[in-house]
Amino acid sequence: MSQEQTRTSSEDTTAFIDLGLRPELLKALATLGYEEPTPIQREAIGPLLAGRDLLGQAATGTGKTAAFALPVLQQWADGIEGRKSTDPVALILVPTRELAVQVSEAFHRYGRDLGVQVLPIYGGQPIGRQLQALRRGVDIVVATPGRALDHIGRGTLRLADLRTVVLDEADEMLDMGFAEDIEAILQETPDTRQTVLFSATMPSRVDGLVKRYLRNAIRIQMGRAAAAPGESPKVRQSAYVVARAHKPAALGRVLDVEAPAAAIVFCRTREEVDQLTETMNGRGFRAEALHGGMSQEQRDRVMGRLRAGTADLLVATDVAARGLDIEQLTHVINYDVPSAPEAYVHRIGRVGRAGREGVAVTLAEPREHRMLKAIERVTKQRITMEKIPTVADMRSRRLEMTRAALQENLLEGDFDRFRVVVETLADEFDIVEVALAAVKLAHETMGNAPDDETIPDIAEPPADRRDRSGPGAGRRDSARGARTAAGAVKLFIGLGRRDGVRPQDLVGAIAGESGLAGRDIGAIEIADRFSLVEVPAAAADHVIDALRTATIKNKRVSVRLDRDREAPARRQRW
Ligand code: AMP
Repeated sequence: MSQEQTRTSSEDTTAFIDLGLRPELLKALATLGYEEPTPIQREAIGPLLAGRDLLGQAATGTGKTAAFALPVLQQWADGIEGRKSTDPVALILVPTRELAVQVSEAFHRYGRDLGVQVLPIYGGQPIGRQLQALRRGVDIVVATPGRALDHIGRGTLRLADLRTVVLDEADEMLDMGFAEDIEAILQETPDTRQTVLFSATMPSRVDGLVKRYLRNAIRIQMGRAAAAPGESPKVRQSAYVVARAHKPAALGRVLDVEAPAAAIVFCRTREEVDQLTETMNGRGFRAEALHGGMSQEQRDRVMGRLRAGTADLLVATDVAARGLDIEQLTHVINYDVPSAPEAYVHRIGRVGRAGREGVAVTLAEPREHRMLKAIERVTKQRITMEKIPTVADMRSRRLEMTRAALQENLLEGDFDRFRVVVETLADEFDIVEVALAAVKLAHETMGNAPDDETIPDIAEPPADRRDRSGPGAGRRDSARGARTAAGAVKLFIGLGRRDGVRPQDLVGAIAGESGLAGRDIGAIEIADRFSLVEVPAAAADHVIDALRTATIKNKRVSVRLDRDREAPARRQRW
């Protein structure tokens, strides 16, 4: 391998059209809502179109599939005229049947206007159907090594016309014991072939394959560039592993728990932006879409609504969000793992400015955990793995909010007008039942009922297990239920969403007035008319004292320990 190439800057504005792709492919990409190439696509597509061998160190989530599929499709389309053979021109080897299906679907999506025949072949599928399809002729085969070798042995998969062989997820294939099969297949392919190898990791066995089968390859390594010191902002970073189908519900719960003043949710494509905006609006959030397909006027309108506070969620692509500077942004949410660590750093740089607390949340699919690791390596910052709050967590959290609201009312008093209602009902019902009915009514009017979708808890892969004592660990625990972190107590602050209070206002006031460090302030929950903030038990009295004379949002506020013990005296009134 003589030529080495490393990363380009994350601010590279190369478009798909600059990569020399055919109009049919550009159209398919536009239809899919891809706004710009990912870093690996930017670097790989040109050399691959030029026929170079390529070694790409890239995990799932980087856009590597399109990085090899687009050039393969283009080369096929360029060579189609005058082609008589019906044997495949490209063979993509992948470790699993799921990946065979996925990659083959990706080829279909990108090549839909080209009329290309793509066939996935894998073990477990009836061989008869595969034989039939191979007999009719296919252009591109996506296969697991074992089944590919089987067909080669039968003479049903002929490799004489192959121009390109792609080894996708080579490390996984070797781990699964496919080393011999892969070598046997490669030996059957023409010497003139182009060889492309993608692998998330580069153990020496993969290197062995590279040395034996790749010639003068371009090497691309994603996630290698280290962030400049101080470049990564101080942001509380966490990630949830969740299957794609459950992402909208997971996002809803994370938003409920985090209660951001203003959040931006990043999606990969325009389609995803539109769909997710609709879904989140259906779930009771005030979401606005922002993507590259919108006019300047539409974009201005959206930004206006965000600034005016009539929208609280911006759903955007990277391209659309470029250059946006939103003062009040508290949360960046990655609906997918970004395609490169640099994109991640860029996104989360939108919060955590000027000493304010910023929060970055990433929803990752199980297969994307490697990308998260790469991001941690590059940013040199810990991303804490969290569990999606369960339906039970959300229910108990809502009950906790209702309890706190009722407690506030009990302390305020002023019930005389309602006494007659209670007294007449008490003639007929037990007084506790009357109270229970009132609580139920209050509870139901306090906001949206949580969804009752069961989101499977996906365990982290063993390699990913980390100790949870790092920065941010243990914070906001109570946000996932009615639990309070050990050694912490909750303070009740009589100012809520209705007063425009945001987490950073509370953190600012508490830190400013009491001298408590921001990192010692735990979970913050903001309800309509009050907020609950966790502080270390030892500091509680001091914080209460300090806030007694302070103002938040220009208002004097009541602050006290949020505990049952304060209520009994008033309960006598019932
Ligand atoms: P991969 O790393 O190949 O598994 O791709 C990860 C995901 O990114 C897939 O869902 C692709 O559809 C999507 N994707 C790939 N390239 C782009 C792009 N340039 N813009 C937006 N999404 C993309």
